[in-house]
Amino acid sequence: MAETISKRLHAVKARIATAESSLGRYPGGVHLIAVSKTQPAASIREAYAAGQVDFGENYVQEALEKKRLLDDLPDLVWHFIGPLQSNKTRAVSAQFDWVHSVDRLKIAERLGSQRPPERGPLNVCIQVNISGEATKSGVLPEEVTDLALAVQSIPGIQLRGLMTIPEPSLTGKPSPEAFEKLRSLMQQIPIPQLDVLSMGMSDDLELAIAAGATHVRIGTAIFGARASSS
Ligand SMILES: *Cc1c(COP(=O)(O)O)cnc(C)c1O
Repeated sequence: MAETISKRLHAVKARIATAESSLGRYPGGVHLIAVSKTQPAASIREAYAAGQVDFGENYVQEALEKKRLLDDLPDLVWHFIGPLQSNKTRAVSAQFDWVHSVDRLKIAERLGSQRPPERGPLNVCIQVNISGEATKSGVLPEEVTDLALAVQSIPGIQLRGLMTIPEPSLTGKPSPEAFEKLRSLMQQIPIPQLDVLSMGMSDDLELAIAAGATHVRIGTAIFGARASSS
């Protein structure tokens, strides 16, 4: 199993490198976040042994339990990428390095005020509901600029950019349009220091990188299929 995770991780890195070079993008410029939700701490350890330090988690309780089991690995970087409720912001702000899934001002304000000062600002992305689906979390595209301007001024957090999970297209094949839309949305926000486009998962990382992704979030392609859904 350890060998499998290590092999898969290297295969994903090779996909990223190929996508970067075919586009003439700077080699190593795309950051890989290994999405370890539902996977045991032992699998994170294996990925770490193979050189991976950035991990993404969706569920607060599960993440905190695994973090405790891994506290002998202090250089791990933790990204919270799931839906976030107000009553969980304190733990997330203290325990994570990034939150990719901010979709309302109240959550950003809580994350900022609850951030332990000695940890420095929490890196934050605004999640955009790029396909406009009623069921998905994320702010609507037309609301992004106002939210970004408000979030930007909150102490304790550093707004870095935008994140999205596009709806699978009707054909079941990934399509580049949602990724291109996220990039052009970010270009319209009048905050020059935004530098993160968090987009691309196991099935569509090449399309996301082609559209300008800086951070891809990859679960299945590294750890294999998840036991539970989501
Ligand atoms: C689960 C998840 C991923 C990873 O998806 P895979 O298809 O397993 O690569 C990425 N981003 C978010 C927000 C997720 O919830």
